[in-house]
Amino acid sequence: MVAHTPTLFASVALVATIMAFCLILVAQYNQRDGVLTTGVGLLAHAAAYVCYTLYGHGPLWLTYGAANTLLSIALGYYAISIFRIRDLTVPWLRVFSLPLVMLVSMALLIDTLELRMLAASLVLILQCLLIVCLAYRYSEPGGRAQVLLIIGGSISLIGLGMRVVAILLGGAAEMQYNVSNLTQTISVSIGTATVMMYSLGLVLLSKERSESKLQHMAHRDVLTGMLNRRAILERFSDELERAYLTRASLAVAMIDIDHFKQINDIHGHLVGDSVLVHCAQHLKKRLRHADIIGRYGGEEFLVLLPSTDAEGALAVLDALRMSLARAPAVVDGLSIPVCFSAGVWCGTPEPGDSTANLIARADVALYEAKASGRNTVRLAPAAAQASEGYARDSVQAPG
Ligand code: GH3
Ligand code: MG
Ligand code: MG
Repeated sequence: MVAHTPTLFASVALVATIMAFCLILVAQYNQRDGVLTTGVGLLAHAAAYVCYTLYGHGPLWLTYGAANTLLSIALGYYAISIFRIRDLTVPWLRVFSLPLVMLVSMALLIDTLELRMLAASLVLILQCLLIVCLAYRYSEPGGRAQVLLIIGGSISLIGLGMRVVAILLGGAAEMQYNVSNLTQTISVSIGTATVMMYSLGLVLLSKERSESKLQHMAHRDVLTGMLNRRAILERFSDELERAYLTRASLAVAMIDIDHFKQINDIHGHLVGDSVLVHCAQHLKKRLRHADIIGRYGGEEFLVLLPSTDAEGALAVLDALRMSLARAPAVVDGLSIPVCFSAGVWCGTPEPGDSTANLIARADVALYEAKASGRNTVRLAPAAAQASEGYARDSVQAPG
């Protein structure tokens, strides 16, 4: 079915205008999520298609030169939206160098039918490739936004490719914007799909981004950037279930910085905060790859050591303890010595074991470690021996 090409252009312009106004309206509530730049891009897209509609009824500089430059600006804004959504520095000059090339080539080639058509199509092809690459690189792999943006970009590449082939085969006159034929109908319909896919893809990208920011905020400790209490407990629950099902050994350590109150009292809370950050970074850096650490509370950290037996857990914890004791925090030129005590529970989880009761057992061992003079690691007894008393069974790490 062959559709009337100017009518198709007008319908794309209408769709793009409606979407542009919707996005620009909602962008008032959040100026930084890339929705405004997508809306501006759609507005330029709509203006380009209004100019195409007038092809043959107005000057070429407007209906071809300005139209293609506006479409190129629209694609530039879509690319910019991806940078804004990902909170990246926007390379305005680099992105808008292609619309500039479009403007200059339109000014120079406007009177040459084939060359101006080839130049316009090639610049647009480069811009669609850029959007596809950015979507591939900066959106969640396999996410809905990535799928829409890559399909949208690929469809526009097919439409533009069809134009280039038709021009190279000598059919440039048949591809003018006021001619209606099957290739034109397919090529312009592809324009409609592109507008929808780019705009929906960018809105979804913005949504995915804010969801992952919220997810990150809900799971990270603001001061140290490590997993917060909620997140480390979730991980603990997962590891406990895994160890129970696979009958693997799991070690859980509660680390508490020694005499931290004194650090606050002597140097103030802000310095105390920096010391905490130092401890967190130091511990995180020195743990093994598979180990998991989170801030459980004030100056307490919970460490999970999957597939680790008691001997291994004591070795890891003791190495951590000694390395932190040897690495004072340096804040405002002041060297502040810091060390920790830790209580470790280790074993193969039994039915009835829960995160709460294993933490409680590690806590009892921690209490022992504090009572025995601090800067030490204590192992909690296994469940069967627990009732016989911790003191007899707890193992003091080499000091
Ligand atoms: P102990 O060796 O027995 O653990 O002594 P402590 O002084 O470390 O123990 P205590 O639990 O009495 O004190 C912990 C202190 O940690 C109290 C609290 O003010 C401080 N603290 C907790 N969270 C933060 C924080 O985010 N920043 C700072 N600066 N201090 C914190
Ligand atoms: Mg404490
Ligand atoms: Mg403490």
